Order: sequence, then C-alpha cells, then structure tokens
Amino acid sequence: MNPKYPNRVKIAHLPTPLHPMERLSKHLSGPTLYIKRDDTTGLATGGNKARKLEFLVAEALAQGCDHLVTVGAAQSNHCRQTAAAAAQYGLGCSLVMKGEEPPLKTGNLLLDDLLGAHMYWTTDRDTNKVMGEVVAELRTMGRKPYLIPLGGSNVVGATGYVLAMQELMAQATAVPLNIDFIVVASGSGGTQAGMVLGAEVYGFRGQIIGISVSSEASALTTQIAALATATATHLGLGTLSLADKVNVNDDYLGDGYGIVSETEREALRMVAQLEGIVLDPVYTGRAMGGLIDLIRWGAFTRGQTVLFWHTGGAAALSAFADKLG
Ligand SMILES: *Cc1c(COP(=O)(O)O)cnc(C)c1O
Repeated sequence: MNPKYPNRVKIAHLPTPLHPMERLSKHLSGPTLYIKRDDTTGLATGGNKARKLEFLVAEALAQGCDHLVTVGAAQSNHCRQTAAAAAQYGLGCSLVMKGEEPPLKTGNLLLDDLLGAHMYWTTDRDTNKVMGEVVAELRTMGRKPYLIPLGGSNVVGATGYVLAMQELMAQATAVPLNIDFIVVASGSGGTQAGMVLGAEVYGFRGQIIGISVSSEASALTTQIAALATATATHLGLGTLSLADKVNVNDDYLGDGYGIVSETEREALRMVAQLEGIVLDPVYTGRAMGGLIDLIRWGAFTRGQTVLFWHTGGAAALSAFADKLG
C-alpha cells in the first residue's frame, strides 16, 4: 500500500519518545508496559491534536483561509492546540465552546485566552447553529474561515495518525520491540481511525484498543470504521474495509465525559508517582484507569507488551483541582 499524503506544515516535535514504564510494569506485575509520548508534541504544551493540525493547517493555508474556527468543551485540548496553531501561522481563531462561560478562566481556557482566540459560548443553543453564525459573521467581515470539526476528526486530521503508526513501527523495529496491544483514549475517534488505517498500511500486527471517554462502544466503533475507510480513500488507497480492526471498550465511561471518578484519580497518582509522568483527568487518566483494570482482570499475559499511547491533556489539570484531591 502506498498512500499519497497531502502537504503538511511542521508543527509537532516528532518523533515523540517511546520508552518502557519499568516501575509501573513491576507494580502491576502484568504485561511489559511501554509508553508513546504524544504529550510531548509541543504546541502550547502538547497532545494528539498537534499531529492532526499539521494537515489541517496546511489545507487551510492552501485554500487561502485566514481564520480557524472549531468547537469543543470548555476544557478542550483540541481548541487550545488549534488556537496555538493559528497564532503560530498568523491566522485568526474563533472557538465555539459548549456550555456556559465559567466565572474563572483556568486550565485550557486560560491558554485559549492567552493565545488570543475569540470564544463564543453556546449556553443552551445548538452548537452547529452557533458555529454557522460565527462563520457567517467572519465572512461578512471579509475573512476566509476554515472550519475544523470537533476534535479535528475528519479525513484530513486523521491522516496525522496514519503517519504516527509509521513513526511507531520505525521506533519499534529499532529497539526491537514486538507490541501486542496499543491502548489509547478515544473521544471523537480521529486518532484511533488514523491508527487503525496506519496499522494496516505499515503492517502493525497487534491489536489497538480504544478506551472510550464519551460514547457507547457500538456508536464509536461505527464512527471510527467509517472515518478510517474514508481516510483510506482520501489517501488514494481505494476502498478498504477496516471495521473488524476497530476495538472500542466503553467499560470506563462512569458518569460520562469529563466526570472524574476513582478510576482517573488512582491512575493519575499511580503513573505520576511511579513514572513521573502526568496524565489528564478526562482522556488519558480514564484510558490508563482502564488499562490498569484490564491488567488486574488478567486481560494480558505476563510475556505480552502493551503500549499506552499518551495523547496529552495535562493542560486541563488545574481546572479539575477540586476533583483530584
Ligand atoms: C482529543 C483527545 C483525545 C481523543 O482523540 P480523538 O481523536 O478525539 O478520539 C485523547 N486524549 C486527549 C488528551 C485529547 O485531547
């Protein structure tokens, strides 16, 4: 398979490190644990949206756009990284934030503000409607807005994670390391969709497990499979059926998206205190909590290797201070 990649701009610090987590592996006495550090991509701290934005910003510039518009929750890492990418390329940035404006700007919201993004709060209004209004207003002002969907999860954004699998395969070959499982937090699905396609293109033989942070497994699985297939077409690979390669686990949804429970609290403290690595309360804390639980249940054997893909998010931590104590 020979994908034809569109142009990208250079935003992320790549390749991100791949290294073992020896103390965590020993503590859990399960499989050998490795971590892929996409929390170190840079772009107003780091995270998985940096890889997506390399392709999204390149397309925006190619289309002559001068403004990025996207959408997310108040503590969206995607919004923060989009605001940073816009600043880096001299573009304007408008963020449609779901919900009410909080009294104090903390975490990602503080960074959005420092990065110069314009914020529009939906309160109880329909997100798409507000987005449409923001775009119309920008056009009236003579601007050329470029729309990025929730999480940057379209074929353009997902392409960043197809290439991330090439990067991982090269690193794993160099160690050498045989990875049996990848565990990753899955929200809007673009990251996992790109990985699933990248696994196919670059011959990764292990299994990719997405720990859902917001959706039921059946819905997210369908969404990821559709996006992976569409991304294959986008890259000139024709029609690939990837549905049977998509694994989503929704056992750790708890009370829903962004609601911190003991699962996240334990995972955050364990990884921080055994490895000196900071996770986030919404995505990687939940995914790591899931991984810890799966290890305790004996889902992996001792001889296997599990890679935890750290997708970032620590910029949100201060906004959750009262939930993490
Ligand atoms: C957005 C995000 C994810 C999920 O990525 P999707 O492509 O939306 O599934 C995981 N971790 C962090 C920290 C994120 O910000």
